[in-house]
Amino acid sequence: MKLLRLVVLLTMIAGCILPVRAAEPLRAGVALVEITPPVPFRMSGYFFERLSTGTKDPLFARAVVFQQGKETAALVFCDLLGVPREVSAAAREKIGKTTGIPVANITITGTHTHTGPLYFTVLSDYFHDRAVAKNGTDPYDSAPYRATLIEKLVEVVSQAKAAVAPVKLTSGYAVEDRIAFNRRFVMKDGSVGWNPGAKNPNIVRPAGPTDPQVGIVLLSSLEKAEPQAAIVSFAMHLDTTGGTLYSADYVKSLSDRLQREFGPNFKTLFGTGTCGNINHIDVTRQEQRKADALGELLGDTVAKAIQGGALSSGREPALAVRSTKVMAPLQKYRPDEIAKAKANMERVGARDFPFLETVETCKIVDIERLRKFGDEVPLEVQVFRLDGDTAIVMLPAEVFVELGLAIKAASPFKTTLVVELANDDIAYIPTKQAFAEGNYEPTNSRVVRGTGEKLVEAATTLLKELH
Ligand SMILES: [Zn+2]
Repeated sequence: MKLLRLVVLLTMIAGCILPVRAAEPLRAGVALVEITPPVPFRMSGYFFERLSTGTKDPLFARAVVFQQGKETAALVFCDLLGVPREVSAAAREKIGKTTGIPVANITITGTHTHTGPLYFTVLSDYFHDRAVAKNGTDPYDSAPYRATLIEKLVEVVSQAKAAVAPVKLTSGYAVEDRIAFNRRFVMKDGSVGWNPGAKNPNIVRPAGPTDPQVGIVLLSSLEKAEPQAAIVSFAMHLDTTGGTLYSADYVKSLSDRLQREFGPNFKTLFGTGTCGNINHIDVTRQEQRKADALGELLGDTVAKAIQGGALSSGREPALAVRSTKVMAPLQKYRPDEIAKAKANMERVGARDFPFLETVETCKIVDIERLRKFGDEVPLEVQVFRLDGDTAIVMLPAEVFVELGLAIKAASPFKTTLVVELANDDIAYIPTKQAFAEGNYEPTNSRVVRGTGEKLVEAATTLLKELH
């Protein structure tokens, strides 16, 4: 009896000294700022010079700022092929200074649309130098676009931060298994083919999986629980438009579909899943779906999941960000191979120069550019914990789907979004197995075999630390 009284007393004292405080409310703000380049301008995505002739739909930087108590974080999703480290580092620094959000809590990613500007890396530099050598100037110089882009990134985060208000956060997955396919195939001769073409009789089976899960983080108004914005993540290459008009690719039709459902002010932020080896090409059919149909189908799936109760509120909001750097050694080439690649740059884009040689030529020249900053590339891995059940992993580069699936499988969170191309775009990060199999993506990778598995380890450690 006395013991019980003592326990009760101690509990009361503990209750006074350590009051169980209700968590601070989660606030969020979303903003969009247009980043469409001028016309004409070089476009990104393929291994030849291609000039824009107009705009199908404008390109945007889409930002969400989260705030809880003193913790703040910003995620920015840009309708761009990628965002190189030079640009993301400068932008994050400036955003940090302007908004007070810690640089480590800021992430800037490209959706990988292949109908945006070519404004960085080896091909941009090469076409620029060639124009200057020939004409003395380059009418499509990408330096002014990069400078403007950095200003717009600061602007979009500032606007999102100014818009923060208490929100209800729900999260979960939808399943979309109709539109995305592994683009590597085991062929009859034992090799691994890449985009081998519709109805190719030599296909045995896909060489790897897809990820049919669509990660959804929905932000709704606190009072009426009206959907206001969503972060949607799906693993499928944004190369479904083509041509010479600027476009956000299937993100445009996806966000249109969700606006039809949830009103014209609903905002979609698309984080590209780990789709290094995943695209929309269905080899069992001749006609391929294009951006408009793909976004519409994906939007149907997301809308149904939201309305059908697939999302749930996590445990108390608990905003936190952790990050780490994986040092990835660059691949090594002999001096004669480097000299040959430099000489071969003028053949890039020529019809008689084989595709994989084109890819390797650009890769070797780009590695030498990267080596100026060191023999290893710092690959930043960030984890954003939004509540006790929801986390977003941000990875650099174009990551193979198996690696994203491994992170999700190891994550202790109920809902884990794994988004690629964050803060740096240094082409592909294949699995160890894919490096052994070869073909396009391993040829177009600048880092050594095993880098992808290290990213999985780093992300998994951070997820466990935060859970
Ligand atoms: Zn790609």
